[in-house]
Amino acid sequence: MDVWLTDEERLLRETVRSYLDGKIAPLVAAHERDRTFPWDRLAGLYDLGYVRGVVPAADGGDEAGHLALAILMEEAGRCWGSLRTTLNVQTMVAAVLSRFGTAEQKDRFLRPMLAGRRFGWFGVTESDAGSDAGALRTLGRPDGTDLVVNGRKLYITNALHADFGLLLIRVAGTDGLTMLIVDRAESPYQAFDIAHMPVRATTSCELAFDDVRVPAANVVGEVGRGLGVAMSAVNLGRLNMAMGAVGLAQACLEASIGFARAREQFGRPIAGFQLVQQMVVEIATLTETSRLLGYRAARALDAGLPGRYECSMAKYYCGESAGKAATLALQVHGGAGLMEESPVERYFRDAREATIPEGTTQLQILHLGKELLGVSAMR
Ligand SMILES: Cc1cc2nc3c(=O)[nH]c(=O)nc-3n(C[C@H](O)[C@H](O)[C@H](O)COP(=O)(O)OP(=O)(O)OC[C@H]3O[C@@H](n4cnc5c(N)ncnc54)[C@H](O)[C@@H]3O)c2cc1C
Repeated sequence: MDVWLTDEERLLRETVRSYLDGKIAPLVAAHERDRTFPWDRLAGLYDLGYVRGVVPAADGGDEAGHLALAILMEEAGRCWGSLRTTLNVQTMVAAVLSRFGTAEQKDRFLRPMLAGRRFGWFGVTESDAGSDAGALRTLGRPDGTDLVVNGRKLYITNALHADFGLLLIRVAGTDGLTMLIVDRAESPYQAFDIAHMPVRATTSCELAFDDVRVPAANVVGEVGRGLGVAMSAVNLGRLNMAMGAVGLAQACLEASIGFARAREQFGRPIAGFQLVQQMVVEIATLTETSRLLGYRAARALDAGLPGRYECSMAKYYCGESAGKAATLALQVHGGAGLMEESPVERYFRDAREATIPEGTTQLQILHLGKELLGVSAMR
């Protein structure tokens, strides 16, 4: 696999993997059990390039390329789905703030984020606006220098812990959608965690806005242009999800090889049985093909191409492949794979997340179909 990487990229992978294996992996089981997250460890990860990598140097970031960001997300996915999800959201919030934020917004939100002192959420989905995000109904009514916000958001990652967020709304009397920064201390809103199957160390929240006053100065970009602001992070989010799925498939492969070599039945290691070898080879093939598509998408973005097609295909294929790899890994492990003490039980749950957020598998197929056929099947 490494023939596709430069020496520098290979060194980045080794450095990050060794850090995650040594400092984060030992924490995973307890946090999964308690449904907590080690927020105090994120600043250390940012020193490796996470989150800061997506931000230009002028705004205090590391200005890394997309291939480097892809490697970082792949390694996060190999280590822990909840970590990859959390880093993805922080990366998307930072990318939007650095691209569209005012100097004052960057000082208040982006710079403390990059220092690991503030954490953000990204709020688009509502009960009647999932795949069809443009149907959202959360409304801001102008009142003096404020917008008075009413509405509900759903499945918002880590909104219980994060202290501010990016909220996509409609503004009364205007066309289009508007992106708004909501600071919890300034504009108190309510957050409720919804118990969920995958990425158990994150929260997946319903947010309630009942006459919440938000200063109009917190609009990101222009009123009515918020969908473009949100979509500016979409390729990044899809690539992050795709590469996290590659890392998860890689973890399934490593666990399956280790287990198949150690487990004996019929007087010899199950690794020697052809049907077990078939499963392991299938996991390896899914992992390698996913990695190639993910790296291709990252290289496309680094080459300055739009990358929509490449990122959609990577999100689609890598997400689906991670699910297949995790199912096969469970089978290689037999009954042991279904026990919570086995890491593949977690891989199986977390793999289910890879096909839903940042555009479901079906939505990626529709984007790809439109690119290939020139006709939208959505409306
Ligand atoms: C763990 C997790 C974390 C999340 N984090 C966030 C977050 O931080 N912020 C945020 O805003 N949202 C978040 N989401 C929400 C996520 O983006 C949505 O769940 C996703 O966009 C799908 O929307 P939905 O769940 O309403 O499904 P729906 O849109 O209702 O889709 C249901 C099914 O119908 C299919 N479908 C829908 N439309 C079409 C069509 N035109 N053609 C064919 N099939 C179609 C879908 O593919 C799916 O299979 C998160 C979700 C999860 C599960």
